[in-house]
Amino acid sequence: MSMVKFFYGDNVPLEMHKTRIVQKIYLQPIERRLQAIREAGYNTFLLKNKDLFLDMLTDSGVNAMSDKQQAAMLEADDSYAGSETFTKLEEKIKEIFGKEYFLPAHQGRACENIISQTYVKPGMIVPMNYHFTTSKAHVVLNGGSVEEIFTDEALKITSEQPFKGNMDIDKLRDLIKTNGADKIAFIRLEAGTNLIGGQPHSLENMREIRKVCDEYGLLLVYDASLLADNLYFIKTREEQCKDMSIREITRELADLADIIYFSARKLGCARGGGICTNSRDAYLKMRELVTLYEGFLTYGGMSVREIEAIAVGLEETMDINMINQGPQFIEYMVKELVERGIPVVTPAGGLGCHIDAMGFLDHVPQTEYPAGALAAAFYIVSGIRGMERGTLSEQRDEAGNEILSHMELLRLAMPRRVYSLSHVKYAVDRLTWLYENRHLIGGLKFVEEPSVLRFFFGRLETTNDWDVKLVEKFKADFGESL
Ligand SMILES: *Cc1c(COP(=O)(O)O)cnc(C)c1O
Repeated sequence: MSMVKFFYGDNVPLEMHKTRIVQKIYLQPIERRLQAIREAGYNTFLLKNKDLFLDMLTDSGVNAMSDKQQAAMLEADDSYAGSETFTKLEEKIKEIFGKEYFLPAHQGRACENIISQTYVKPGMIVPMNYHFTTSKAHVVLNGGSVEEIFTDEALKITSEQPFKGNMDIDKLRDLIKTNGADKIAFIRLEAGTNLIGGQPHSLENMREIRKVCDEYGLLLVYDASLLADNLYFIKTREEQCKDMSIREITRELADLADIIYFSARKLGCARGGGICTNSRDAYLKMRELVTLYEGFLTYGGMSVREIEAIAVGLEETMDINMINQGPQFIEYMVKELVERGIPVVTPAGGLGCHIDAMGFLDHVPQTEYPAGALAAAFYIVSGIRGMERGTLSEQRDEAGNEILSHMELLRLAMPRRVYSLSHVKYAVDRLTWLYENRHLIGGLKFVEEPSVLRFFFGRLETTNDWDVKLVEKFKADFGESL
């Protein structure tokens, strides 16, 4: 992509694919968008697809498939046991990750359920570079706790550190020494660290974690859901890896892990998941839970069509021109926003572009959910749906006090191979307008607040009529209602 030079000096990401099936999308007038966000209780999770122009809520299960994936889906071999399709995926896993045993599961969190039930006992600790919502929930459900061992750079909004997802090895050793290795269920490393902005870890860091695991006899569990982005960053940012192929990097990462699991809603651009390992002992321990929770061992809750698509999708992940599309679009978007002075997480990560809502709306207190308010305001002015990742996504403590999040982010996910450069430019343009008019945006307060996972279903309202003022200003500036 960026390897192609433009004569006019512009350096824009150039797609290495063409589109052969399209879906029509609609840009509703701003009056309708205001109505829609009200109906959704100012919660972007509750918006309906028909009211969206671009859906940047998530990259999960919404990545574009290739022609080869679609073709493979037609050949899928449907049977309860012994499906040929399953064997294809098993072989592909063996070839790419070098792991003998594969256990299918219906999605990433199902793998986390199985791994946590197998290895986490009450009182145990799982050190990780950063938590992911579902990975933490499963550890806690089994009586364990999570310790986040991130580096000092990880939570800084702006940074030059290329691998903000790295673990701090000294802190990891201290944690093991303080608690004793027998209290550690396993060490979990997450590729493309989701909640801090899709930030990668380096190959070198994983080698060091492996050394610690060997010293203390600990298991290394690798969450490879966002591996595609992480591979791209290792290839382009880690000096010692620049001459390695994607396949070689993948194999080396895989060799360092005892257990790998992934959400195929992200990795492989389909829908499903799975766990692989070379340990017969681990395989046998987890196998029963797969049949109990997921389904028989040759489908594990997935449709055979999706299994075919995953096998092809994993192979396509070995192609740098496929996995660079998301990160390069995001990099472009981040660069444009930085040039306009809009606060955004740097360096650019995978997964999406993360706007710093505390910087954007420094007049809105955290208790009035600046990231939630920014998500609502951005939808109103653009028809683009993003996701709040801040205090609204946390849960109150037992006394009912707000737990203020480390960061208040508006995540604009970039589903892989779905949007075009003009879509990205439109998003940048509307964010720029919104930034210039940010003083108009106010806070949000709950009208209905569920006690668990309130960000999914909660309903809110604006603290005053700022949404109406925003619409008036938009119409005055654009002279129309799109
Ligand atoms: C999405 C995700 C999961 C969970 O996967 P699902 O398929 O949504 O259940 C786990 N880990 C990471 C890093 C993820 O991004």
